[in-house]
Amino acid sequence: MLTGNEIRQRFVEFFKEKEHKHYESASLIPDDPTLLLTVAGMVPFKPFFLGQKEAPNSRVVTYQKCIRTNDLENVGKTARHHTFFEMLGNFSFGDYFKEEAIAWSWEFITEVLGLEKEKMWISVFTTDDEAEKIWIEKCNIPKERIVRLGEEDNWWSAGPTGSCGPCSEIYVDMGIEYGGDENSKPGDPEADDRFLEIWNLVFTEWNKKEDGTLEPLPKKNIDTGAGLERIASVVQKKINNYETDLILPIIEEAGRLTSSEYGKTEKTDFSLKVIADHIRGISFLINDGVLPSNEGRGYVLRRVLRRAVRHGRLLGTSENFLYKLVDKVVEIMKGAYPEILENMEHIKKIIKIEEEKFSHTLGQGMQMVNDEIEKAKESGENKLSGEITFKLYDTYGFPYELTEEICEEKDVEVYLEEFTAKMEEQKKRARSAREVVMEKGQDSFVEEFYDKYGKTVFEGYEKLQNKSIV
Ligand code: ATP
Ligand code: MG
Ligand code: MG
Ligand code: MG
Repeated sequence: MLTGNEIRQRFVEFFKEKEHKHYESASLIPDDPTLLLTVAGMVPFKPFFLGQKEAPNSRVVTYQKCIRTNDLENVGKTARHHTFFEMLGNFSFGDYFKEEAIAWSWEFITEVLGLEKEKMWISVFTTDDEAEKIWIEKCNIPKERIVRLGEEDNWWSAGPTGSCGPCSEIYVDMGIEYGGDENSKPGDPEADDRFLEIWNLVFTEWNKKEDGTLEPLPKKNIDTGAGLERIASVVQKKINNYETDLILPIIEEAGRLTSSEYGKTEKTDFSLKVIADHIRGISFLINDGVLPSNEGRGYVLRRVLRRAVRHGRLLGTSENFLYKLVDKVVEIMKGAYPEILENMEHIKKIIKIEEEKFSHTLGQGMQMVNDEIEKAKESGENKLSGEITFKLYDTYGFPYELTEEICEEKDVEVYLEEFTAKMEEQKKRARSAREVVMEKGQDSFVEEFYDKYGKTVFEGYEKLQNKSIV
């Protein structure tokens, strides 16, 4: 049975044999002002796809570290989603197109990985007869196991503008016990857990302009993305990504550190999965130069870090444990990402500081949330006001989403608009106070004051929502 590390290696070797050049994984911080984080393997190559730069190699293979904040709520709930994951990808910049991309993906999963052909399903875009024909004629896929899916699943775009085109996906049927019935197919909502999407082949042909129109790209391209953790779960016959050798050792270590055990209760498993997922993201974000803060990437880091700490408390530990998990992450990932070993001490230090800072107020904050939740239930109102969610944020360092998650667990409502309204009020107060001081001409005081307030002014939301598009 192949390990996760071996699968990654085999993938690179396979495409190197097909004259692809291996590029190192790019940073999680993209060189692209429209994106907050690297969300897919193609992100570093956007200029090549758009014809803005000439690709030095027309065939490239990568394994790319990615973070998707839009999947944060799926972590631990679905078997297949992480915030941090690795995307295996082969790319063609004006070189080969659909035929080779399809045939090679099939060769890799069936011949190199030896996955069972009968379990595979294929999707193509609604109008993509060409792709369907290749799957049938080149790979012998029975027509009944090819589905046509629309824009939501089978149209890919880099963002509101940029390169885009139809996709074709490979799904694995995990078995009827995961949902649906004999007639279910990929794309059926009731069979969402049954059909596992492992690989997405994007046939990038278009550039979407500001006004929404499509223009043909100067050259046709191939961009593919296969989730390493998902492929590992199929190869290793595990029911979810978390039980693969890429993640299970982190879960087990988290269990040891929090005196809990994986596989006992759903609640414990959920917390352990959240912690294992988040520590991978946290370690790589810090590795790539992000520091905890209240905006942008720093806010993503702070938010997942504090969430992981809270889940540690839910498991019953009152110790700072999170930074101790870095060793496991490094142990598993250092072969593929040697820099994480070099940065290990720095990563631990940053986590420890943030963990200590948050732990300090976490207990008091939890007391307040619980009291308020109780009050809200007793009064029949069943809701926490913006005043409270803001106080939790401002005084106790609770990211809004953390309060939201706790309220969700307890069936109490919170409203983001009320929270952001309070945030705005605070911003205004800070602004007018700054203006008053300015008039008096006390510049250094202004700076100090603004520094202080600047730190607590929340910009995470606007930035996150505008930027984490994909
Ligand atoms: P899904 O429909 O399961 O959410 P997706 O269609 O959003 O996946 P793509 O954008 O097509 O995923 O990304 C390419 C591949 O990357 C997917 O086929 C999958 O193998 C993997 N992948 C995507 N999102 C995640 C995630 N959050 N965690 C782990 N792997 C992922
Ligand atoms: Mg998705
Ligand atoms: Mg999908
Ligand atoms: Mg997809």
